[in-house]
Amino acid sequence: MGARLVLILGGTAEATELARALADRPGWRTVTSLAGRTSTPGKVAGELRQGGFGGIAGLTAWLAAERPAAVVDATHPFARQMPSHAAEACAALGIPRLRLLRPSWRRDAEDRWVEVADATEAVRILPSFGKTALLTTGHEAVQLFLQLHQRMRLVLRSIEPIPDLPLGVVHVQARPPFTLEAESALLARYGVDVLVSKASGGAAGHAKILAARARGIPVVLLARPPQPDGPTATDPSGALPWLCGLA
Ligand code: NAP
Repeated sequence: MGARLVLILGGTAEATELARALADRPGWRTVTSLAGRTSTPGKVAGELRQGGFGGIAGLTAWLAAERPAAVVDATHPFARQMPSHAAEACAALGIPRLRLLRPSWRRDAEDRWVEVADATEAVRILPSFGKTALLTTGHEAVQLFLQLHQRMRLVLRSIEPIPDLPLGVVHVQARPPFTLEAESALLARYGVDVLVSKASGGAAGHAKILAARARGIPVVLLARPPQPDGPTATDPSGALPWLCGLA
């Protein structure tokens, strides 16, 4: 019997880790799929494909042609489209699908979290929590937050460049992970008194939460989008027994 193919929907450290773990196991073959958003993605074990599939229909066609033994949806907790596309396409073809979803961060007694439903709510309340905000929510909601640039100082961090920012908005281009020391230094350098973050969970983004805790500044935390029903693993090592248990 040939190696069993697993399609890993990626864009996260967990996806990369799972591909590496399966590369070390005989009997498995992986294709990791990336949306193609970052210009220099990290190295991935196994095969790599990049770019959207073309909606549910495109993904269904890819799956019907390649017939993977399973799909592991290891996209980011804030990926809004891909999890439902994967759920629908896999259900239509009877392909087993696992959601690999990292746990949320645990709130500590010293954390000053302000939990909001989305970026719109964050924009509404942000000026009442500080004068200088560090925005770590990526490209997605930049235009919404920029509405505030004349009301408060905005320090915006993203992996890729953001063109045409209004004068006065500080842009920090950097790629995670960040250390606690680096995050604390960034907050201090710009006099940040409120942090905006997605409730992404995971180790790579946790340092900023810890730095905000240490400095006693509030964190406006955007809630995760809902996830489709189905089996879930919280880390790559939890995905392996699920894969091995497939008929
Ligand atoms: P999304 O809303 O779920 O996806 C939007 C569209 O991008 C999808 O409909 C799909 O296009 C394409 N796509 C997304 N993930 C893909 C993948 N792994 N392989 C091939 N196509 C993919 O996701 P997003 O928020 O735009 O994020 C894009 C990618 O960045 C995801 O893979 C995610 O894991 C990663 N990421 C996202 C965040 C975040 O905060 N949103 C943070 C870190 C990493 P088609 O419909 O054409 O197939």
